[in-house]
Amino acid sequence: MRPNIAIIGGGITGVMTALACARKGASVELYDAAAIPNTANLSWAHGRLWKHVHENNAALQPLAAHSLAFWRQLIDAGSETVGCQTQSIRVVDDADCRRLAQLYDALAIGYDIQDPVLSTQSSLLRMPSANRRLFVGHDAILLNAQKVYAHLCQALANTGSIVLKPHTRVDLGTIREGRHFSINGERKSYTAVICTASRPLTRHIDRSGIAPAPQYQVHLDVHLNDARACLLKPVLTMGDEQRSWCVPSPERRMLKVSASRFSYSMPPDSHDLQACKRYLLDRLRVKYDQVDVVVSPYFELPAQKRQGTAYWGRHDVTGCIAVEACDASIFKIAPALSEQISQHVIHGVNE
Ligand SMILES: Cc1cc2nc3c(=O)[nH]c(=O)nc-3n(C[C@H](O)[C@H](O)[C@H](O)COP(=O)(O)OP(=O)(O)OC[C@H]3O[C@@H](n4cnc5c(N)ncnc54)[C@H](O)[C@@H]3O)c2cc1C
Repeated sequence: MRPNIAIIGGGITGVMTALACARKGASVELYDAAAIPNTANLSWAHGRLWKHVHENNAALQPLAAHSLAFWRQLIDAGSETVGCQTQSIRVVDDADCRRLAQLYDALAIGYDIQDPVLSTQSSLLRMPSANRRLFVGHDAILLNAQKVYAHLCQALANTGSIVLKPHTRVDLGTIREGRHFSINGERKSYTAVICTASRPLTRHIDRSGIAPAPQYQVHLDVHLNDARACLLKPVLTMGDEQRSWCVPSPERRMLKVSASRFSYSMPPDSHDLQACKRYLLDRLRVKYDQVDVVVSPYFELPAQKRQGTAYWGRHDVTGCIAVEACDASIFKIAPALSEQISQHVIHGVNE
């Protein structure tokens, strides 16, 4: 019998999982609380970074590697503005530089070590240079997330076996036995339910015994207006105390700039927002003509708990297959995640 799968959440993970399940012969109903594509979710962004080397999370490395073929194919088939190869830059001290060099050597990935003062990036960004090195990894791809996500949503519409259910919020607390849930009191039944709603399913602690906590990340979307902007590279850490980072869009019209320290456990107030904005704009030497201050709510596990955490699995309480957000990196690994989940659900469905 043809599997009938419900997917809750129409972000990049849900959309790619719907396409992967349909390719394997399932019929799919894809629910989102808003429109599909949802221009207010985390997948609707100007620039997102894929990189191979994840020094802080070993579980990400194989998922990123498995996703690479998909991103390369998409870039080769589309225009340059969908995505492009680039480098990943870190401003580090000598000890971190040596550690990174060992890691890149072990993975046989190329890198350069430069003097920050002599680098073009220093004319575009204000980065500390005393006792610092610029570690330039040859391992990154910039993706125009909006274009990628919109392109995949278009593919959904062209797939006969996928039914879209936009503007339909599913009460996640009603999911039972991994197969049923209710909408406005009406019980829906499927062969399997997959939840990619980018939030914890219940207030219960998860498989690892830790409840993902809501975080509010403050970042700036900077509209660039500088002929030199084409030289901007993604900088993973600018070497400052707040651990600032920036990711340009592939065509370098927009720059997302933020700092790891500008993540709050409560919604930041206007005073916090002004302080973040002032600090982050002070990092920029590149010219711009508009700045949007954005607060992105998201859920993630504390960094020290992320090591080795599976990105998806069967949820203890509801029994459904869930991607419970545990890392702000899901976009880059969505191709691998969707393939693993669809394999599991379709091939394990009648067991
Ligand atoms: C500041 C910032 C920078 C980032 N940078 C990067 C990066 O450079 N590279 C990278 O790979 N990742 C990055 N990420 C992370 C990445 O953008 C997200 O992890 C990814 O887009 C999440 O995709 P998703 O499909 O899981 O969730 P989302 O895109 O958030 O989609 C979830 C969907 O579920 C729907 N939904 C929620 N609840 C319900 C419900 N009850 N019923 C029905 N629908 C529901 C929502 O409406 C939403 O459309 C970044 C995140 C942030 C915040």
